[in-house]
Amino acid sequence: MPMSFAGRFAGRSAVVTGGASGIGLAVAQRIVEEGGRVCVWDRDSTQIEQAKAVIADLHGVTVDVADPEAVAQAARQTIDALGAVDILVTSAAITGPNMTTWDYSVEDWRRVIDININGVFFCNKALVPHMLERNYGRIVNIASIAGKEGNPNASAYSTSKAAVIGLTKSLGKELAKTKVTVNCVTPAAVRTAIFQQMSQQHIDFMLSKIPMARFGEVEEVAALISWIASEECSFTTAAVFDVSGGRATY
Ligand code: NAD
Repeated sequence: MPMSFAGRFAGRSAVVTGGASGIGLAVAQRIVEEGGRVCVWDRDSTQIEQAKAVIADLHGVTVDVADPEAVAQAARQTIDALGAVDILVTSAAITGPNMTTWDYSVEDWRRVIDININGVFFCNKALVPHMLERNYGRIVNIASIAGKEGNPNASAYSTSKAAVIGLTKSLGKELAKTKVTVNCVTPAAVRTAIFQQMSQQHIDFMLSKIPMARFGEVEEVAALISWIASEECSFTTAAVFDVSGGRATY
């Protein structure tokens, strides 16, 4: 059982996109364990129901984060249900196909960009005004080490994650004089279902680049996010946190 900070999120409410699976699910579980209320936003309603079965009092909204109207509606619905949203963690993303850049279809490229960049923008945009009104907010966007380094045969994904870093730094600076912080985490390979979309060659390639010579666990990412999303992390915004077993280029 990992160390937990019971009561850290007492009285706080969070939205976790992509929270029905993998890292998002671990973050949702951790925030609930630490006393917060959580609503997961995910496009997979079956997985939302499975998550609700294991996490007590979990709320869920089925939504495609690439649809701006649906995201705005999810925000209204969640604020009505929870009374407020103090924390936003954006975990929803897809990897897209593993292939050379020039072999990508335009549709595949656009889908990755739509979900991984536009989806993060839509969710941040939908909740920032509410956080400003309440004079408190913690936004943690999940990017990737791929966004810093660039991964061969994953250029749409790498491009999208570089954009999430840029969005986080820009929005963090725009909000720096408010009580709303915006940070992002950059995991390296973490063992989740997203691996099912990757070729074995790509998985071996990722592993070869991690100095700790192992994959990360979802709980290890959730532990870092729990701190960044807490009141305690108050003098940090527009920052990028590696959770990568030592893999980093800058
Ligand atoms: P995952 O596939 O287990 O979970 C992603 C979740 O997002 C799923 O529940 C899925 O239904 C949801 N989702 C996908 N598209 C959506 C959409 N359009 N609208 C709403 N929900 C949508 O993935 P994961 O491994 O937990 O990854 C979580 C985050 O961490 C992602 O942003 C990913 O890029 C990032 N990341 C993962 C790793 C890794 O090795 N697993 C490494 C670096 C960064």
